[in-house]
Amino acid sequence: IHGHEPLLSEMIVQAAELPEMIEFAQKNGAKGIQLSGICCTANEILMRHGVPLAGDFLQQELAIVTGAVDAMVVDVQCIMENIANVAQCFHTKVITTNPRAKIASGDVLHIEFDEHTAFEDAKKIVRVAVENFPKRDKPVIIPPAKSDLVAGFSYEAINYHLGGTFRASYTPLNDNIINGRIRGIGGVVGCNNARVVHDQGHLAVVKELIKNDVIVLTTGCNAIACAKAGLLTPESAKVYCGPGLAEVCETVGIPPVLHMGSCVDNSRILMAATEVVKAGGLGNDISDLPAAGSAPEWMSEKAISIGHYFVVSGVYTVFGVTMPVSGSPIFENYLYKELENLYGGMWDLEVDPIAHAHKMIAHIDKKRKALGLDRARERVLMSMDDRRTLDAA
Ligand code: SF4
Repeated sequence: IHGHEPLLSEMIVQAAELPEMIEFAQKNGAKGIQLSGICCTANEILMRHGVPLAGDFLQQELAIVTGAVDAMVVDVQCIMENIANVAQCFHTKVITTNPRAKIASGDVLHIEFDEHTAFEDAKKIVRVAVENFPKRDKPVIIPPAKSDLVAGFSYEAINYHLGGTFRASYTPLNDNIINGRIRGIGGVVGCNNARVVHDQGHLAVVKELIKNDVIVLTTGCNAIACAKAGLLTPESAKVYCGPGLAEVCETVGIPPVLHMGSCVDNSRILMAATEVVKAGGLGNDISDLPAAGSAPEWMSEKAISIGHYFVVSGVYTVFGVTMPVSGSPIFENYLYKELENLYGGMWDLEVDPIAHAHKMIAHIDKKRKALGLDRARERVLMSMDDRRTLDAA
């Protein structure tokens, strides 16, 4: 399942789980039906149904090359036209579902997905996949690389992880930012870009941030890159994090990189940031927080609109690879400097991933200083008398 429409993928999951559909698969010689996701649909059905990830944007053709894909169901955005040509070398059926995103190449089947007949359309699609199973004519070669991961940190789930049902709250996170164990928060999101080595920018930025005690919230193809590298497990904290963040992850049992969904779920990151402001002690606005955003390998136009949504919400947001404004120094100055006076957040560009992470860290430190959190606090051991005096005051 590949694309961005959560409704389509949701219905396909339900159709594939029907006993009659599993029986149909068995009649066609299969053990059952294995769904797997590519791109942001993958993140969505992973979060909601635990369907495993197959890969990110730059791996869509590779998934077909395994010979194990009986049908690749696509909707809108991030669908490479060439998957139809690759599929022709195998038995894979490419099924388009959206009238705005048909594919002209290859032998592609179009089954229109209409939300009024959603379940019936989904069943039709799953049937086509099952009927294609006996036509597998090439050896199935699935690379053995697998990674465990913990995903699905909606802002409500973070609340729960920090305090359980009894004391669900963002306060433990704020306390650990205030006491300096966690230096700040980095939202690292976005696409793969074919102009850079696959996933290299994503992983370098994320690893540099967590090494410097910055907890990372991730979505989109960055989340998939982190999953493949094993960064979405609590155990990775000991290997990759600075001592403060590692201690918090060990205590709470969370990974240092929190998977929050698909690239269209970036609003969840801003909701979490809003909760941090509400929990208190870190200023009165998102722009006061020791936090920064990043899209190290962005490529989709949508990334620009999401980035701007972050900037005008008060987040310093750094993009990698390139920005299509370099020919206009006046506009560049407006995006990279003047916007901060208007919204508290601004754009920036940094191609080198390590320098990119350090620009984010420098911004986080600037905000810590403004909040008076740059000085190590003296630890005072209090006697009962001291506590009584405090309470009386
Ligand atoms: S993060 Fe970018 S490349 Fe990946 S699925 Fe979303 S829009 Fe496409």
